[in-house]
Amino acid sequence: MSSTAGLVIPCKAAVSWEAGKPLVMEQVEVAPPQTMEVRIKIKYTSLCHTDLYFWEAKGQAPLFPRIFGHEAAGIVESVGEGVSDLQTGDHVLPVFTGECKECAHCKSEESNMCDLLRINTDRGVMLTDGKSRFSIDGKPINHFLGTSTFSEYTVVHSGCLAKINPLAPLDRVCILSCGISTGLGATLNVAKPKKGSSVAIFGLGAVGLAAAEGARIAGASRIIGIDLNPNRFEEAKKFGVTEFINPKDHDRPVQQVIADMTDGGVDRSVECTGHIEAMVSAFECVHDGWGVAVLVGVPNKDAVFMTKPINLLNERTIKGTFFGNYKPRTDLPSVVEMYMNKKLELEKFITHRVSFSDINRAFELMLRGEGLRCIINMEE
Ligand code: NAD
Ligand code: ZN
Repeated sequence: MSSTAGLVIPCKAAVSWEAGKPLVMEQVEVAPPQTMEVRIKIKYTSLCHTDLYFWEAKGQAPLFPRIFGHEAAGIVESVGEGVSDLQTGDHVLPVFTGECKECAHCKSEESNMCDLLRINTDRGVMLTDGKSRFSIDGKPINHFLGTSTFSEYTVVHSGCLAKINPLAPLDRVCILSCGISTGLGATLNVAKPKKGSSVAIFGLGAVGLAAAEGARIAGASRIIGIDLNPNRFEEAKKFGVTEFINPKDHDRPVQQVIADMTDGGVDRSVECTGHIEAMVSAFECVHDGWGVAVLVGVPNKDAVFMTKPINLLNERTIKGTFFGNYKPRTDLPSVVEMYMNKKLELEKFITHRVSFSDINRAFELMLRGEGLRCIINMEE
């Protein structure tokens, strides 16, 4: 048991008071974990586009004040009633979606879309009692994705915590709690390229490069990277991408360019842009007879996917995936082991590091489109 168990913990948190305005370092009070909850000390967190998107609050109902952050690693400080598989001192990755282990999805080998703990971007409170565990002078502050990792301490549902190898360096494996696992799993768990096959990756941001890393690990012989931004190509070479296409350099659809380069199409494609035209190209560029396309990017809510049904009848497959099809509690520990066994490389994703007090710099870097992942050290 820790000495703070059962007590309110005062600590520093970066609070977002208003859409698009710099976060403000505040002293917040973090209540003890309730039934099935866990309070953790965040050691490292990183910034992902989803934080930026909800902070900007351009496309959704704004919910402020709020503590953002969902890609992180921490250590269990104390556990609430009913939590039996975690204890003080365990090393954990908080995840924006959960695994209750009891619903039809959790019981299915095929799904990771837990009924109880599935991502909910609109909820700013805990599931147990509909209240927040964060407050300033008694006024509640909203949670984000059930994780709120831009705080020295946070409270998370135990079903959203993956217990990992305590020897794993938290300043690196923290990036596995969202984007990197999403791209990696899209290739390894869903596209499943065979050794020696060809894979096209649409969008070379952190998610797409993680998908490329999956293709490298699977032993793909050709990894074709497609992006509208040529600045992405140099970085992508480190991820095993062997050829590059900028759709703007061609006056015919990129799927035709790819078909010509690959004798009819690639074996697998993974779309990581969120743009509908790239989704259609990613599907139409796979080889007939066996090609599989996997959609990862989150499109505009009104976007419509159009292709000729004959493309499907010709034995092409299209699939979509959420969090790389990984079940957070069951599968993430083994992704951490892939890094520990040197199969998966994480260092190349980490392009910047800042101290917690400089968290707004991480936002500026992402707004300028610089780098891939910026690690925020909570103890500096
Ligand atoms: P990012 O913005 O860093 O990268 C996207 C890249 O796509 C950019 O380099 C951009 O230039 C390129 N691009 C845009 N339109 C293109 C087009 N038509 N053709 C080719 N390239 C194009 O984003 P990211 O952080 O890597 O995330 C990628 C996507 O994955 C986002 O849509 C994000 O919302 C989504 N995502 C999905 C899940 C999931 O579970 N399905 C989880 C996390 C992120
Ligand atoms: Zn479930």
